[in-house]
Amino acid sequence: MSSQPRIVRKLLETIREHQTFCVVGHMRPDGDCIGSQLAMTLALRNEGKEAVCWNQDPLPQKYRFLDPERVIESPKRGKAFDCVIATDAATFDRLGTVADCVQDRKVLLNIDHHESNTRYGDVNWVSSRSPSTAELVYRLLRAGRFAITKPMADCLFTGVSTDTGSFQYPTTRPSTYHVAGDLVARGANLALICDEVYQSYPLSRARLLKHIYSTFRLTDDDRIAYFWLKKADFARTGAESADTEGLIDHIRDIEPVIVACVFEELDPERTRISLRSKSHLVNVSSIASEFGGGGHSAAAGATIPGKPLSVQRRVVAAIRRALHHSH
Ligand code: 5GP
Ligand code: MN
Repeated sequence: MSSQPRIVRKLLETIREHQTFCVVGHMRPDGDCIGSQLAMTLALRNEGKEAVCWNQDPLPQKYRFLDPERVIESPKRGKAFDCVIATDAATFDRLGTVADCVQDRKVLLNIDHHESNTRYGDVNWVSSRSPSTAELVYRLLRAGRFAITKPMADCLFTGVSTDTGSFQYPTTRPSTYHVAGDLVARGANLALICDEVYQSYPLSRARLLKHIYSTFRLTDDDRIAYFWLKKADFARTGAESADTEGLIDHIRDIEPVIVACVFEELDPERTRISLRSKSHLVNVSSIASEFGGGGHSAAAGATIPGKPLSVQRRVVAAIRRALHHSH
């Protein structure tokens, strides 16, 4: 296949040269991260490689069906690998505690689609035009003629589907549908994936939604929307921080809102923010990077030290500035 990008050939050569692998992804993994990590690991094992798969955090409940054999494990110290493959991680730090456990390696491959990716690998395939890392993993596996089994098709389809907001975000492109179509042809179980990922929310999440709908705030002519998730809100509703994926969509999806922001209390003086933009003129990755975070132009995040109200004021001011510059 001479039309393969050189970087894909380089990745495949590196994989073929090595025997022991560790596939890693970012902390608080989402569907794309989990799907990409699992599919990559299963592909390597099918090729007779020795591969482990590490994430700092446990899988959110709704993705557990993708990993019935518990391939994804907590990192362990003192292991050595020929090759470490990071998927969907914009920076090496985003690997969290996994980062310390994969220091003993010959080569680090970085496969990602975040425009803020710092290219921390020895070989970097960073394609910010790709709506998901799963789409990149799919292309890599196809180019390398790796088998894509049904469980792998489920994993990759979940990644493509979740990172495109079910094929809605503007990053969605013709190839996204081709990839998804081919994955369905290879046996991805659409009914199961839709049921597990989109139609099986725990009641605790519904309680959290009640809280969100009754407390969210609008400002700047209703163009900025935000809400807070405090530790007490999790305790009261029984929800877990891992189950907050997608809550922000409920305020983003209001018509006048251009930028949505969630503030999540991690500690009294540490707040995680999630940002979403509905305008190509407002790049929330730039806003997040003002606070040491990153992401994509339409979806980004950061973790910010400081008192909650001061964090809120600074973040809302940064969003406001970005909105003004968009005119
Ligand atoms: P979410 O709001 O869903 O947690 O994250 C949105 C996007 O921003 C994801 O693609 C995620 O990888 C990225 N992101 C979230 N938090 C951070 C962060 O602290 N640092 C960086 N570099 N990216 C982040
Ligand atoms: Mn992703």
